[in-house]
Amino acid sequence: TLPLDITQENYVRCNVKNSIFSVVLPTPLKTKLKLVSYSEDALVNILDMDPSVTKTDEFLEFVAGNRILPSSVPLAHRYGGHQFGVWAMQLGDGRAHLLGEYINRTGDRWELQLKGSGKTPYSRSADGRAVLRSSVREFICSEAMYYLGIPTSRAASLVVTDDPVLRDQFYRGLEMTERAAVVLRLAPSWFRFGSLQILAHNEELTVLKQLLDFILIEHYPQIDPGDENKYVQLFSQIAHKTVDLTVGWQSVGFVHGVLNTDNMSMVAITIDYGPFGFVEAYDPQFVPNYSDKEGRYRLNRQLEIAEWNLKKLSQAFIPLLDESQVIQVMEELQNLGQSTSKKLRSAFRKKLGFLQDIDAADNRLIKLLLQMMEETRADFTMTFRQLGEISLTDLGNPQALKSYWSLKKLSSHDNYPAFVEAYLKRLQVEKDLTDEERKRRMCQVNPRYVLRNWIAQTAIEKAEADNFSEVQFLLEVLRHPFTINEEAEKKGYADPPPEWSCTIRVSCSS
Ligand code: AMP
Ligand code: MG
Ligand code: MG
Repeated sequence: TLPLDITQENYVRCNVKNSIFSVVLPTPLKTKLKLVSYSEDALVNILDMDPSVTKTDEFLEFVAGNRILPSSVPLAHRYGGHQFGVWAMQLGDGRAHLLGEYINRTGDRWELQLKGSGKTPYSRSADGRAVLRSSVREFICSEAMYYLGIPTSRAASLVVTDDPVLRDQFYRGLEMTERAAVVLRLAPSWFRFGSLQILAHNEELTVLKQLLDFILIEHYPQIDPGDENKYVQLFSQIAHKTVDLTVGWQSVGFVHGVLNTDNMSMVAITIDYGPFGFVEAYDPQFVPNYSDKEGRYRLNRQLEIAEWNLKKLSQAFIPLLDESQVIQVMEELQNLGQSTSKKLRSAFRKKLGFLQDIDAADNRLIKLLLQMMEETRADFTMTFRQLGEISLTDLGNPQALKSYWSLKKLSSHDNYPAFVEAYLKRLQVEKDLTDEERKRRMCQVNPRYVLRNWIAQTAIEKAEADNFSEVQFLLEVLRHPFTINEEAEKKGYADPPPEWSCTIRVSCSS
């Protein structure tokens, strides 16, 4: 029922009006289609498919965009957005096609979207394609984030072809031909903050209202659609879920890389994996995106950026609000900071094995630990993990610390003994918490494996040589990020990153 643009001349137009989608077919891939990998979990548990379908040509052609199912009307979504703080006007799905929605056997509604599937009315001067390396990263990381317990879009499959795509090797200053790849992505909704922004900006208020009502009814069923205050409630729920999401990122050291408003989900899931990264040697200023020279989207700014983006989203709500509702939304925004710090503290408390909330004391302890990590360049993931693996009696034992490489680094800090003392004292507040129970609890929230850039890179290099085993292996390891995997240990996935890892560069839109 949402407005569609069905004129097919719109490839040449740069502005589509009064529409939410444009009807447009994916461009089939031509040469040597290959299935790189698929997520069995996503296929079986989201799409109700039998894994044996992956052996068929029909499946391969479907996930490549070469075969359209009879009931599907492929759509490219029109949205706008603020890119790096600047209103960029119309953006839209320039290389993605929504194939339709699927309601699975458990009654959940999922939208199937291809990424890298060809030009749309929103491609501007770009080619509508995605290359293998960025598609491998998106494919693995979407699934990995899900298993870390962080709200995210999912990835069902990844195909590659020999169709050439020209890409700038931005850091080497030359152009290279790479191979086109397509990911089948799944999400309850692909609407973004920018989906509303473009409509408000162009004063397409009827469509704006239609879309907000659609999102409210489909994705926020707790809100009564007849309630006068429904949009204020909707905004409030989006705001709180967005903060939860961002806190989730901080808790695993994930940096999205391009938190433009067009990459912020209306259902508060992680979307559009591009130049993301997991912080390794802890640095609050960590910027994974090579082109983000100013570090706008650095690790310690994500919460602030989420709020900035929510503020931009709130402006798109304003045309539909009366004066008192505008004030309510403003108040909501103002109070967000407070709830953010509380949620962040709570996430780090869990990481340290605490249950009780002791405000100021916990804040100080968390701050001390992070500061020591920064100053000793201890690894973010492994410091927390090893704190959960080591017994309390070994924390102050230099001999024992030798088997915990990241803690060993941390322990070189002058404040380390003071930290250990404070940590032990703090744990006494947790009545009846045995050391075994503390360790068990901490190892359930602190992953041993995350998708480090260098690990992704090894899978990419093999995949580029048509060896897809590492992509599959990584998917398997990251399905259980909290459980020791012997094979992954042998490959050093919980070890200090190799020297060459710091030379890897990732950037937008590849
Ligand atoms: P991103 O940086 O991936 O969030 O993309 C920003 C905008 O550029 C979105 O509108 C994308 O659809 C579009 N875009 C990125 N890469 C391409 C491409 N190769 N072809 C067409 N559009 C693209
Ligand atoms: Mg995007
Ligand atoms: Mg993208």
